[in-house]
Amino acid sequence: MSMQWTDPFEKDRRRMVEEQIRARGILDGRVLAVMERVPRERFVPPAGQIFAYADQALALPAGQSISQPFVVAAMTEALAIQPQHRILEIGTGSGYQTAILAELAAEVYTIERIEPLQRTAREVLAMLGILNVSYRTGDGTLGWPEAAPFDGIIVTAAAPDAPRTLLNQLVDGGRLVIPVGGETEQTLMVIERTGAGLHQTPQFPCRFVKLIGEEGWAD
Ligand code: SAH
Repeated sequence: MSMQWTDPFEKDRRRMVEEQIRARGILDGRVLAVMERVPRERFVPPAGQIFAYADQALALPAGQSISQPFVVAAMTEALAIQPQHRILEIGTGSGYQTAILAELAAEVYTIERIEPLQRTAREVLAMLGILNVSYRTGDGTLGWPEAAPFDGIIVTAAAPDAPRTLLNQLVDGGRLVIPVGGETEQTLMVIERTGAGLHQTPQFPCRFVKLIGEEGWAD
C-alpha cells in the first residue's frame, strides 16, 4: 500500500498565484512556479495561518509585517534573477521573500535588524531545507561589503532615498528594487546601474514599514 501525503494548502496556493499574481500581470514563469511551491503558511505566525494565502500583508512580531503576495511577486520579477545570481536582501522579516529568492538564485545574503525575527526566519528556512542563504543581524543600509558586488539587491522596508552604499554594491547591470518615499506611502522603484549611470523605473504605489538605519530613517 502506498502512502499519499496531502498538502492542505495546495489549492489555496494555486488560487493565490492565479487570482492575485498572474491575473495582475506577473507572467515570469519561474516566479509563478516558485510561488506555487513555497509554503507561505510556514512563515506566518500561528494566529494568522488562516490568512496565509489572503490578498494582504500580515502582522509579524515587533510591529513588522510580511508583504502581500502580489508585492513579493512583483519585486521578485523586477529583480530579473538568473540561476547564477547572488542576491542581497535587506529586511528578512518572516523569511518568506528570502525563500522565494533562494529558490531562484544561486546565493542569497539577507540582513535583518531585529534578532528574534532573523532567528525564526532562519529556523523555518532550515526546516524547509533551503541552505543557500547567509544571515546577518544588523543595519542593512550598509550592505554586505565582504560579499559585494551583487547581481540584485532587494529592500523590503521603506526608505527616504535609495541608499548610496547599496547602489555601490551592485554589479554593472545590477538592479536595486526598493520602496522610496515618505513614512506612510512610497513608490516601488527599480534602479538599474549601468556603467557610471543609474536608470530609475517607478513601478506602483506601496506601503512598507520603515527602513531604520544609517542610510534610512532614524530609530
Ligand atoms: N520581506 C519581509 C518583510 C518584513 S517587514 C517579509 O515579507 O516577511 C521589513 C523588515 O525590515 C522588518 O523585519 C524590519 O525589522 C526590517 N528592517 C528595517 N530596517 C532595517 C535595516 N536597516 N536593516 C535590516 N532590516 C531592517
